[in-house]
Amino acid sequence: MTTNRTFTMVKPDAVESGNAGAILKMIEEGGFRIVALKKTLLTKERAGEFYEVHAARPFYNDLCAYMSSGPIYAAILEKDNAVADFRTLIGATNPANAAEGTIRKLFAKSIEANAVHGSDSDENAAIEGSFFFSKTDQF
Ligand code: GDP
Repeated sequence: MTTNRTFTMVKPDAVESGNAGAILKMIEEGGFRIVALKKTLLTKERAGEFYEVHAARPFYNDLCAYMSSGPIYAAILEKDNAVADFRTLIGATNPANAAEGTIRKLFAKSIEANAVHGSDSDENAAIEGSFFFSKTDQF
């Protein structure tokens, strides 16, 4: 099944440095419609639940501490080919490898504090969106 939605978070480093508005502007200018949006703070436990797939990775504890270190913006986005096009817009996980003009190249501070999250599949986009939003939050 194909879907035209993806899920993103503006991560704590980007919110803290005042870049959330610029990032959301790039997302809208990239042709994505914001279906749902909220500013929220993850507890370390909830960050751990979100990133459970990475539980065995050496950076998991640091990642959960970082993702709960300050508020984030969570959003569901809509566009044709949303998952792949959004991964292109944000660039590589490590900003050192991210293409010029991508969100991570412009705003990320490190491989961990890399400014934004983007779902890696349609299935995960749906799971991650429902982690933060109910059906009645989506317009
Ligand atoms: P993404 O899909 O590009 O976000 O990358 P991954 O799913 O592989 O990793 C999830 C998140 O974990 C990344 O966005 C980073 O915030 C963090 N991360 C990934 N790799 C590393 C690493 O090698 N070290 C640290 N400290 N964090 C990492």
